[in-house]
Amino acid sequence: MNDIKNNTYYNLFIRQKENQFKIGKRTYNQRVKTLNALQRAIEYTYRNEIREALFKDLGKPKVETELSEVYQILGDIKYAKKHLRRWMRKQKVNTPISMLGSSSYYIYEPKGVCLIISPWNFPFNLTFGPLVSAIAAGNTVIIKPSEMTPHSSALMAKIIKDVFNDDEVALVEGEAEVSTELLKLPFNHIFFTGSPNVGKIVMTAAAKNLSSVTLELGGKSPTIVDKTSSIDKAAKKIVWGKFLNAGQICVSPDYVLIDESLKEDFIYACLKWLNQFFSENPKQSASYGRIVTTKHFERLKSYIDNAKTLDATIESGGEIHKESNYIAPTIISNLKEEAALLQEEIFGPIMPIVTYKTLDEAIAYINSKERPLALYIYSKSSSNIKEVMQNTRSGGTCINNNIIHYANHNLPFGGTNNSGIGKSHGFFGFKAFSNERAVIKQHTFGVTELLFPPYTGLKEKLAKFTIKWF
Ligand code: NAD
Repeated sequence: MNDIKNNTYYNLFIRQKENQFKIGKRTYNQRVKTLNALQRAIEYTYRNEIREALFKDLGKPKVETELSEVYQILGDIKYAKKHLRRWMRKQKVNTPISMLGSSSYYIYEPKGVCLIISPWNFPFNLTFGPLVSAIAAGNTVIIKPSEMTPHSSALMAKIIKDVFNDDEVALVEGEAEVSTELLKLPFNHIFFTGSPNVGKIVMTAAAKNLSSVTLELGGKSPTIVDKTSSIDKAAKKIVWGKFLNAGQICVSPDYVLIDESLKEDFIYACLKWLNQFFSENPKQSASYGRIVTTKHFERLKSYIDNAKTLDATIESGGEIHKESNYIAPTIISNLKEEAALLQEEIFGPIMPIVTYKTLDEAIAYINSKERPLALYIYSKSSSNIKEVMQNTRSGGTCINNNIIHYANHNLPFGGTNNSGIGKSHGFFGFKAFSNERAVIKQHTFGVTELLFPPYTGLKEKLAKFTIKWF
């Protein structure tokens, strides 16, 4: 402890540490009361301010804010309130005959003092979502949101201050250095949402204190469109999923892998849907967002420039407007494999089209890259779907759709290896912030006592008997 006493957040951390058992003891009704206070703040008190902050930070259309931020958080809270009583219950399990005279159960107890580090693309949802799980599980929490969305972060700080005492939940704003300082503290759990590169930094820091981690990361999520799929329906859903939040979504379809015979028809259908969703001039459309910062705008522009240098075909879009961080919905084909668009996670409104000749080729292509957070398949063939499912790995999958698996609270959400470690949402989020404490209670004389030393011949026979029969 001595070496962390000079840490900027030491006093805050210690106050939460001292308060953890009081918070952890809270009953179902008390935890629901806390969740209700957060719900009121988001549903009523701060709803308009949330819309304004997101518009300032991301140009986010009001409907998108309602659906992808407010609705999601309220959904998380309502789901937790509905199921929390059951989650908090003692979980009874069988006890082997060899332990006759005792009974067994486990409980989900709070991990303790937790750290949540969140990204900018859905600032409220990806901060308050994990927070709901953490407080439902009975923890104290320090939050560090992203510096990229300053209006949202400042508003979240205000909400947290309004709803919680800081020895229960506190939010500290700032750049990466703030996370670095916080990560030196011996948190009982760290829940990080962000890029795989920073995920590695977080896990390295956590290892020093053996803090457990949930890493919600990203990467390139492929979308397969096979020969049997309905092209128009697939294009409609893919265009929606890809250009929602201007492509700045961790489960956004990163690139499309399509049977080569369907490429032209698919692009034609995409153009039709782009036009219907965002008009001929998406820059004027109130339904289309902006890139979060100049840095990310420049990154995405460099991907388009790089593709042009490599003689790729811009099928649509490509227009940019630096002053407003606008990048038109862009579709690019004929990319060489070394193109940045096929190597880096795009996280923006650019959709590469990659063709394949056989499904095996498409599967091999996916497996040549890191394991994705999501993998999408558009197909009417159950054998093709089975083939893809059995020969790939991903955090989640939608069949004949994209993104929506995120919104089902009954499903675990998270990645695998490079796209993440651990799961969140609903019960899985509650579990991430809980320690499963195993308990055996001895009621009467236990038969295990018959095996205590000294190990006489009789004990040896008893041991052999136990191994054989119990
Ligand atoms: P990021 O990794 O750059 O930043 C995330 C958070 O980490 C921010 O709060 C930031 O301040 C902090 N951070 C940055 N550098 C750090 C460092 N060196 N040490 C400690 N903390 C540091 O990610 P981002 O740009 O905010 O978000 C985009 C990434 O997040 C994409 O890869 C995307 O796929 C992923 N993402 C994943 C999910 C998910 O649920 N799996 C959701 C949204 C975004």
